[in-house]
Amino acid sequence: MLDADFFRRWMRATAASVDREAERLTALDSPIGDADHGSNLQRGFRDVVTALEKDAPDTPGAVLTLAGRRLISTVGGASGPLYGTLLRRTGKALADASEVGREQLAEALREGVDAVRTLGGAAPGDKTMIDALVPAVDALGESFAAARTAAEEGAEATTPLQARKGRASYLGERSIGHQDPGATSAALLVAALEEAAD
Ligand code: ADP
Ligand code: MG
Ligand code: MG
Repeated sequence: MLDADFFRRWMRATAASVDREAERLTALDSPIGDADHGSNLQRGFRDVVTALEKDAPDTPGAVLTLAGRRLISTVGGASGPLYGTLLRRTGKALADASEVGREQLAEALREGVDAVRTLGGAAPGDKTMIDALVPAVDALGESFAAARTAAEEGAEATTPLQARKGRASYLGERSIGHQDPGATSAALLVAALEEAAD
């Protein structure tokens, strides 16, 4: 079972991975965006870690709703409200359970991903974070490792796509041939689940 400590480890592992990969995320956001995705998420997840140390929320749902709130208030770009909504809505779906199973987490994350789709209007194939999140949630019922692989493959599969949402869509066909930064960071978030489970 996954308790509040697991969810704190998940957020810390995500923050550490975003720190390690910040330059790469920003470099991916350079040809098809405004070169700030790494710094946006770095600022956001650092703030999440600080907030979790200060407030010590004691249920999985409370950890995720706090994390989502912090991302919404500290990340200026499109990705802040979108990731913030993902975590907040997932946390809300977990309600006040003190422990949850992996399958329950998969169901809650599906609600979170649906909320991101409603907020941003992106569907699979639009070259956004959705392209990593949807396959990850589908595979999460199987294992954390399967979810990670699915997210990484989903992120890589954005390269040949033309962007239909977000800044990259302004480039039209010129967005083809570049991996989407948000799908890449979504794969980091999913991979961090496996780290938190170790
Ligand atoms: P900004 O584009 O405001 O600078 P970021 O660079 O932090 O924000 O994030 C860009 C990423 O956000 C994109 O690579 C994409 O994955 C994601 N994104 C942008 N718009 C949407 C949307 N409408 N729906 C889902 N994801 C989106
Ligand atoms: Mg950007
Ligand atoms: Mg920006």
